[in-house]
Amino acid sequence: MVQNVVIIGAGPAGLLLAHYLLRRGNYHIDIYERRPDPRLTSLFSGRTFPLSLQERGRKALRVIVGLEEAIAAQSVFCQGTIIYRKQGKTRRVPRKIPILTLDRNRLVAILLEQLTKTYSPNQVKVNFNCECIQVDGTAKTVTLKPEGKDSFTAHYQLLVGADGARSSIREYLVKNTGLPCSQQYVPDSYKSVFLSRCNLSAGVELEANKIHAWSLNNNIRTLMVPQPGNQLNGVILFKDQNNPLEGLSTKEEVKAFFQENFPTFGQLMSLEEAETLLKRPVARVLTVRCDRFHEGDSVLLIGDAAHAVSPSIGQGCNSSLEDVLILGQLLEQYGDDWGRVLPKFSEQRVPDAHALQELSDYTFPRQKLLLVEFFFRLKVRRLLHQWFTSWVDPFVFDLVIDTDLPYSQVLDLHQGWINKVKRSINEN
Ligand SMILES: Cc1cc2nc3c(=O)[nH]c(=O)nc-3n(C[C@H](O)[C@H](O)[C@H](O)COP(=O)(O)OP(=O)(O)OC[C@H]3O[C@@H](n4cnc5c(N)ncnc54)[C@H](O)[C@@H]3O)c2cc1C
Repeated sequence: MVQNVVIIGAGPAGLLLAHYLLRRGNYHIDIYERRPDPRLTSLFSGRTFPLSLQERGRKALRVIVGLEEAIAAQSVFCQGTIIYRKQGKTRRVPRKIPILTLDRNRLVAILLEQLTKTYSPNQVKVNFNCECIQVDGTAKTVTLKPEGKDSFTAHYQLLVGADGARSSIREYLVKNTGLPCSQQYVPDSYKSVFLSRCNLSAGVELEANKIHAWSLNNNIRTLMVPQPGNQLNGVILFKDQNNPLEGLSTKEEVKAFFQENFPTFGQLMSLEEAETLLKRPVARVLTVRCDRFHEGDSVLLIGDAAHAVSPSIGQGCNSSLEDVLILGQLLEQYGDDWGRVLPKFSEQRVPDAHALQELSDYTFPRQKLLLVEFFFRLKVRRLLHQWFTSWVDPFVFDLVIDTDLPYSQVLDLHQGWINKVKRSINEN
């Protein structure tokens, strides 16, 4: 019998799940997304940022024939990071295994293109500009509000909350079923920044296969990632109460701020971008910790809706895609019996999500001295791992990035380092 699934949120997690379910054959899917269709809007118009995808996320994409290749074709592979400082030496952190990087909205557009190319509207309908505003778990209906039109209700057999960190489905579960859940803002806020990678007249051309990072002493950082077509997409990060752009009022002042503080990036910033940057909203990152990702046999949370984390080690999207891989394995194991799949999903995934939160919060230290220790440990472990592969594991960061070892096992192996960073933050 065909099962009727409603997915709220057409982000990476919701769209990949649609691919997985449709390939199993007996599903009809309606997806509701409150934003416009990303294929019809400029990549740089909305709130977007570059993502890095590694083995965990890519393994999940690989299950769908042709998907990883389609994404790789529009990505840039980065072989390390260059960390600039105004005073002092530029630091290079190379990577043996290149990291696939692409813009979040580009990833979503490719997932959508492949979905609508492979399946007919009878199998999957994606409704944009349509927000979920209410859930009735007893009647198994959701209320949806299309932009500029009257609201309507839709019936579901399975409801999937893939609606990101501020999930309305999770909010329903917290209020109505007592789902234990806590949320917290990370200390850093950010604004998206778009630069050109080259300014030939100024003699500036940044390396096309490196992530470019610049830190100031007051916790203000800029992280720029190469995109296809000589574009650099990234973010400027700052403490919420310390927005360096707040006092500025003209595009010339913004450009001058970058030229003064991040000189190379300043030379790559157009006045148009400086003007838009001034108006672009400040975004805050919310982290989410839930003790369960389902309700009965009919409601499921995946991706950021279930476990949003700080982007410091770039795992939010990787883990969201990995959720889908694990769901796919459970569907296979339990023959699409959601009454068994959903509790098993929570059982398997919650410990990893909690471990990922610890790893995201405490892998990178904030204290200068500990940061030096971090890079020292990273380098030494890389050498030792190269020489004695079977005896010495890579350091925590490389284990997260280069392997698909469950997050809870990575945490077990490196709890000492995580505790040390946690103590240093709590003491401050
Ligand atoms: C600055 C920054 C950098 C990051 N870098 C990385 C990285 O390098 N690597 C990595 O793995 N992760 C990274 N992440 C995290 C990553 O972006 C998220 O983990 C990922 O996008 C989660 O995917 P998702 O599909 O669960 O949620 P989202 O991408 O948030 O998608 C949810 C969708 O649901 C829609 N929605 C929300 N509410 C409703 C509603 N009520 N009705 C209808 N639709 C709704 C939203 O419009 C959205 O399109 C980064 C995050 C930030 C902020």
